[in-house]
Amino acid sequence: MTHDPNCLFCRIVRGEIPAVQVFEDEDTIAFMDIFPASEGHALVIPKLHAANLLEMPDDALTAVHRSARRLAAAMMRGLGPAGFQIRQFNGAEAGQTVFHYHVHVVPCYPGARPGLHGRDQADPAVLAGLAGRIRAAL
Ligand code: AMP
Ligand code: ZN
Repeated sequence: MTHDPNCLFCRIVRGEIPAVQVFEDEDTIAFMDIFPASEGHALVIPKLHAANLLEMPDDALTAVHRSARRLAAAMMRGLGPAGFQIRQFNGAEAGQTVFHYHVHVVPCYPGARPGLHGRDQADPAVLAGLAGRIRAAL
């Protein structure tokens, strides 16, 4: 499986950097975003390294989006938002900051349309609580 030692998300895949994980399967990992745009904002990444959508092999793409749907369904049940956004950026000018393909799943609550990225780093204990509520609804 391709791996880039300088890539932040490859390092999360290898367990070299901690992440508040929601679930993982053979091909993907879902974890909480540390600068959440809304309460419960999480990411899904492939375990293989691909910088963006154009580099993604078809089966990894399918696996990531399956996991994103699974995550979104559990988020709807576990956190009870009114809806959710799927976001995905390609290229620095498009707002991409981590160059390892990822899909954002951003829950949306009534009366609060989430901005692009959160400005404040979340408390890991709070993220762990949210991840636990999502996991319990998987
Ligand atoms: P982008 O590349 O703009 O689509 O977004 C990258 C996302 O990764 C941002 O929402 C960051 O808050 C998030 N992020 C960066 N580092 C970490 C990390 N160590 N753990 C969890 N999320 C992260
Ligand atoms: Zn990577």
